Order: sequence, then structure tokens, then C-alpha cells
Amino acid sequence: MTSTLITNIATLVTNDPAHGDGAPLGLIESAALVIDGDRVVWTGRAQDAPAADTVHDAAGRAAIPGFVDSHSHLLFGGDRTAEFNARMSGRPYEAGGIRTTVAATRAASDAALEANLVRYLDEALRQGTTTFETKSGYGLTVHDEARALEIAARHTDEVTYLGAHIVSPDYADDPAAYVGLVTGEMLDACAPHARWVDVFCERGAFDGDQARAVLTAGKAKGLIPRVHANQLGHGPGVLLAVELEAASADHCTHLTDADVDALASGSTVATLLPGAEFSTRAPWPDARRLLDAGATVALSTDCNPGSSFTSSMPFCVALAVRDMGMTPDEAVWAATAGGAAALRRTDIGRIAPGARADIVLLDAPSPVHLAYRPGVPLVSDVWRHGRKCR
Ligand SMILES: [Zn+2]
Repeated sequence: MTSTLITNIATLVTNDPAHGDGAPLGLIESAALVIDGDRVVWTGRAQDAPAADTVHDAAGRAAIPGFVDSHSHLLFGGDRTAEFNARMSGRPYEAGGIRTTVAATRAASDAALEANLVRYLDEALRQGTTTFETKSGYGLTVHDEARALEIAARHTDEVTYLGAHIVSPDYADDPAAYVGLVTGEMLDACAPHARWVDVFCERGAFDGDQARAVLTAGKAKGLIPRVHANQLGHGPGVLLAVELEAASADHCTHLTDADVDALASGSTVATLLPGAEFSTRAPWPDARRLLDAGATVALSTDCNPGSSFTSSMPFCVALAVRDMGMTPDEAVWAATAGGAAALRRTDIGRIAPGARADIVLLDAPSPVHLAYRPGVPLVSDVWRHGRKCR
């Protein structure tokens, strides 16, 4: 293996207060780090750095852990430009929302779906995302859900079965039969390709009883739950997620005090997806309320062609600081270590000896610039699994 010293780092974000100053970011000023193989093996002050086979001069840039995008929907065909344009122009739009994407996804070849996925993964990598989760949910047949997960699994370990995204149009008259399919034959075909099971628990999608059936069946097959919860209104999703020990309750836009208390006292991460509120002109989730209560908060893109077509974690950080009451430090933590917590990973989302060498250099001396300079392409260099890929 070859070791690499990255030195002359103005500010290193370790996300580990045991290795740097202050919580939650554990900062080291005038820092350096050493990568050996796919791991970080040393962090500290540049003046104390050991020798390595090669040296990279960060030239006064900040270094942060690669972003962990713990919620995306990247297996899809087509796009929804007309729908977005109508919504933002105040015009009614009668086309079918998710159903439009379902039709386009079913019609797409495997090669086209995979090429689309790779395109958005490259786009995300250019913006510093080194780990991503992605879901099925636009096929809604046994064949189309399973093939989406097979394709996803070629590109990430964090694959989520979301057969319960909406009731398939083929079962519009018999939602109970669709839940039977999702918890039966479709689950059997999908479980071998997935780590997680997810459900859209929302009025118009799946109610609390249906969501419980989906998550319980997934757990019985060895999948770990995560839940689309409380995005469009109050509902049972968050409490169900906490009760079933889901890794994450995602969206959390409309919360009661009981929901907040449950998230604060359980192990379920609250994953906030501000791209969705931005793209639908909806009220922001209240990150401050969750943080003050003691909940663990993650930020993610929800990248999908309908309600949040951004792959940019820096954009989500900026929104969270501007509109959701997060400090810049809290938002950077939530987009890195928070995402790792939402995926129950301890090897990513931090820069400390033993962690996977997923490192991003910013064209800025401080991670605060991610919110301070919104919309600016600050990501200059990316190492993923210890390999420089940008
Ligand atoms: Zn989603």
C-alpha cells in the first residue's frame, strides 16, 4: 500500500472531539493527515506529521469528511421538468406526479437506468458526496423493483427497498392487495439486493397500519427499517419509526411534541431533506427544535426527479443554516457524521485514524464557507476509499 500525506490544511474537520477541538466538529487548525490504503492512519498538526510516500499540498484549504447522502431516489427514467415549471409558475398541473416517473422507469432499459444512476453519482461526487444511499420505488412491479435494486447494488452498499412508495397504479382499486404484494412476492425478490426497507407513510400513500405491515415484513427478512415520515402533514410515521427502531425517520417536517420527544429519546435519526421544501415551496422542517430536544439530525438531498432534483449536499447545508435554524457547524456535522449515523455506519463521516479515507478539500479555509458562499462550487479535491478521484 502507498501512503499519502495531505498537509497545509487550514482547518481539518474530524467530527471527533477526541481528536480535535470543540463539539461537534473536533477541529484541528494548521493540520495534516495521512492516508494508507483506504484508511486514515494519522491526523494532527502539520508540524508533527510523519513522512509518507507521496505528499499533497492542500495550500490552506479546509478538509472535511466526504458527504454522506443517506436518502436519494436515483433509479428512475425521464424527468418532470414540466411539472416543476408549472408549480413554480403558479399553474395547475394535471399530470400524474410519481406515476409519470413510474411509467418512464418501467419503459427504460436496464442500461438506461444504470447510465442515469451513474450520471447523478458523478454529479454528486463532484460536489463532495462519497457515500450515498438510494432506493427503488419507481417500478412498483416485482420485476421492476428487483432490477432497480440489482442495479443500485452494483454502485453502493446502502440499497433500500421502497416498493411501498405509492400504491401501484395497477392496484388503484385494491391497495390491500398491493400491500400483500409488497410484503410477499416483491419482498422475496428484492430482499437479497437490499440492506434497508422503507415506506412512504403519508396520507395518499400508506397509512400507519400498512406502513407497519411493510416494515415488519422487511425486518423479518433481515432488512432494517427507515421511514418517509411526516413530510406533508402530521401522521403516525415518526412514532412508528421510533417504535420499530428504524435507523432514520426522513423528512420530519410536521412534528408534534410527542414526535420530537420520541426522536430525542430513541436511537432513530431525524433526517431532514430541505431540497424537498425548497422545490415544493413548503414550510421548512425545524431543525433547531429537534437539536434543542437532543435528537440526532442528518441532512440529505432526497434527490429525485419530482420533489427535490438536487444532488448537492452543500446546497442542503446552506438551506439548513439559512432557514432551519442550524449553525454552520451543526449543518456540516449533519451532512457528514449525521448521514453516517442514519446509515448506522461508524467507518465514514469522520476523519480520524481507522476511518475510511473519504476526504474533501474545499476552496475555502473553513467549512463555514459551505453556508457562507451558497451556490459556489467549493469542492476542489476528493479522495474516496483512499483514492484521489477528483
Ligand atoms: Zn424520499
